[in-house]
Amino acid sequence: TLDKRDHAGADPVAVLAEVFGYDAFRGDQGDIVEHVIAGGDAVVLMPTGAGKSITYQVPALVRPGTGLVVSPLIALMHDQVDALVANGVRAAYLNSTQSAGERAGVEQALLAGELDLIYVAPERLSNAATTRLLQRAQLSVIAIDEAHCVSQWGHDFRPDYLALGDLDERFPGVPRMALTATATRATHTELTERLHLPDARHFVASFDRPNIQYRIEPKVDPRRQLVQFIRAQPERSAGIVYALSRKSVEQTATHLQAQGIDALPYHAGLPAEVRAANQSRFLRDDGVVMVATIAFGMGIDKPDVRFVAHIDLPKSVEGYYQETGRAGRDGDPAIAWMAYGLGDVVQQRRLIDQSPGDRTYKMRMGQHLDAMLALCETVGCRRQNLLGYFGQDSGPCGNCDTCLTKPDTFDGTVAAQKLLSTIVRLQRERNQAFGAGHLIDILRGASTERIRQQGHDKLATYGLGSDMSDQDWRSVVRQLLAHGILVARGEYGVLAVGDEGAAVLRGEAEVPLRRDVLGRGGGTARARK
Ligand code: ADP
Ligand code: ZN
Repeated sequence: TLDKRDHAGADPVAVLAEVFGYDAFRGDQGDIVEHVIAGGDAVVLMPTGAGKSITYQVPALVRPGTGLVVSPLIALMHDQVDALVANGVRAAYLNSTQSAGERAGVEQALLAGELDLIYVAPERLSNAATTRLLQRAQLSVIAIDEAHCVSQWGHDFRPDYLALGDLDERFPGVPRMALTATATRATHTELTERLHLPDARHFVASFDRPNIQYRIEPKVDPRRQLVQFIRAQPERSAGIVYALSRKSVEQTATHLQAQGIDALPYHAGLPAEVRAANQSRFLRDDGVVMVATIAFGMGIDKPDVRFVAHIDLPKSVEGYYQETGRAGRDGDPAIAWMAYGLGDVVQQRRLIDQSPGDRTYKMRMGQHLDAMLALCETVGCRRQNLLGYFGQDSGPCGNCDTCLTKPDTFDGTVAAQKLLSTIVRLQRERNQAFGAGHLIDILRGASTERIRQQGHDKLATYGLGSDMSDQDWRSVVRQLLAHGILVARGEYGVLAVGDEGAAVLRGEAEVPLRRDVLGRGGGTARARK
């Protein structure tokens, strides 16, 4: 209709009902809306799906003028604007996908005061013309979505966000909001500083997703483990399987199909029409398993995803949390399952080392990986570890694999010392360094050609670890990496003594390791029952 509703000054709850069709605000939404309508700045940390959009859309409607939304996801802008327009909101966007004519139309509507909301990509705001345009309009509120992108230590840094720090000078008196679904304590502080929000009120929602059960098991035969996991789920459960590479996505989808599972591939290399068709089948039909790279899922609103499975290690805890967060949006029980192995660690280290980034970048990526490893190898509650990463304290959850089956621990100090002293001897006596495979061969007293050639059977630690299987040793290495006792370096994942390793070598620190994962294939919790 042409009825251009004017909600300026209206009751926010009435706007929520009339425009969006919801009876009540959820969680902090009402407080945030009230605070912003009164002209206050806000920093909003809420998990995906909690309903951040409402918190700026309602103030944009109630306050006079146009709400400016800075959003980096051009692909989502279109959908968001369409959904708003369908609700009778006068919304539009400005981005690089538009023709000059389209842009001119939007600009005209903005200046005529005919827009409730305008979505703009961050790079547009670095340009003076856009600033001048927006200065000629009346802005009701400025919402910076995905605000963690301003953090250089985050997993999603975008340089364009740095230019958003002076929006208060460019648009004085307009309340500003920074919103994100992923922020550690450090990122939270950093985005508050960089976006210049010293007086903002902070609204931090719980990041807990109690209906999601977290399970992480060692990778032995990932495809078999994955099939076993999916078969253990109720018939026709919808799920997402995340893999790192396009090739792995396609091979895994094919494998699942051959096993009679209704699986489809999704990655950026597929033709657009195939991607669209697969996505709409996933959304429409029951029980489709989407095998995808992380490109899939952003902005996909499917509430009844029953599981998210990772067959490769995510690059960061933030990424893991976001991806697993796509499960169980309806609040019903859901599972976040992952298989991970030593190969993942070595591969990710290699990717970091080979990346074109500078030293700081590599260090930051390394820290993200370390945090991810710590989550994988924790003997404590997974949820506690995860929430702790986001700065939230909690007790053991009772709904993760380590809570459900307390991992057996044993004193791994001697095993660690054997491995560390092998590394140290090779380094000191021969100036050599090796990856896990060869070191384990030495410890297990294997008679490989490489060992004979190098004369490593003459080392004092040769055969000292023959009481443990290759699999056991790999588990020990993973855990030592996660504890910082070992570090993996370079293209071949060469092992060296980590910061925490020296004390272990001197016998000054104990090394509790988990036993249940040792040599037990994929079973972990279930195999013990
Ligand atoms: P976020 O941006 O935090 O990921 P969205 O703003 O996309 O979340 O909202 C997630 C879902 O919750 C959407 O389907 C939205 O319509 C719905 N929603 C938001 N607020 C409410 C509310 N007060 N009552 C009911 N549903 C809501
Ligand atoms: Zn737990």
